[in-house]
Amino acid sequence: MKTRESSNSRRIPLPKKIENEVLFLNLHTCCICRERNKDVQIHHIDGNSSSNTISNLAVICLDCHSRVTGKRGLGRSYGPGEVRKYKASWEKQVLATRRTNRSIVRYQKELISQIDLMFCEILASPRNGKRIKELLEIIYQLHLWRGSPTINNKILEGLDHLALMSGLFVSPLAGMVAEKLYQLCWHFIGPHEVGMDTKDLKMVLRCLDALGTLARFNCMIGHGHKATDEIAAHVENFLKIGLWYSKLSIVNAAIHIYGQSLKECYEGKKIDFAYGHRKFSLSSRRAFRLLSKEKSGWQAQRRRLQLQFSKD
Ligand SMILES: [Zn+2]
Repeated sequence: MKTRESSNSRRIPLPKKIENEVLFLNLHTCCICRERNKDVQIHHIDGNSSSNTISNLAVICLDCHSRVTGKRGLGRSYGPGEVRKYKASWEKQVLATRRTNRSIVRYQKELISQIDLMFCEILASPRNGKRIKELLEIIYQLHLWRGSPTINNKILEGLDHLALMSGLFVSPLAGMVAEKLYQLCWHFIGPHEVGMDTKDLKMVLRCLDALGTLARFNCMIGHGHKATDEIAAHVENFLKIGLWYSKLSIVNAAIHIYGQSLKECYEGKKIDFAYGHRKFSLSSRRAFRLLSKEKSGWQAQRRRLQLQFSKD
């Protein structure tokens, strides 16, 4: 948007600082028609172009400016008193909007530090299943109720960290984290019911990525049986989402988790985590059957899964 001052000779030029202030107070928008994205001018309300006090300056678009200064024939133009009223009411409205936005930002900041605290409490008591369940449920409800991109991002970041930490030891935490990662996506019950845009897809892939981290560390170090059951079940659930929505990236990410998990069950050439190996082998065979049931496509994905079995 360009600004230009009303033409007038022998004027004292409007200081840039005052111009900026007036434009800011008015959201760079005409105070009369209040239409956004129009070119605007700064108008001297009393007609004296040397009187550069903020109270005498109004932001007005080119259309409205001709109605303020131009001859209107029989129609009346906007008088200085009228323009002052428009200016005052518009500036008040802009200020009110800014106040609301600021309080929302402050509220989000408070919420984010609360989410951080909840994740810290979970990490500090990884064996207190009852409390972890409560806290994860609160976090999940926050996602449903206040799931702005900033809040969701914070929740995913926390779950990703929990996935890594909980994969390292046997605790109720690992299974619950796997379940929550799936719960963040379980509303994707099919494209005819719920759409999936680029942002949604990104979230599904982030959840799968965290689930993959959890699976890998659980197979490598934690060796939790309950966690293994939950992880395998939810990898299958994600795979189904990928098939319903025909999303190659989701299906590929799920297959990748099988490959990584099976690999991590080995210590050298020997199977080190037999329970995990058995569960993930069975689960990946079920995934293979799911892919085979589909009418078309997925040949490359089936081959990848087959290759993973034959390695075992
Ligand atoms: Zn206007």
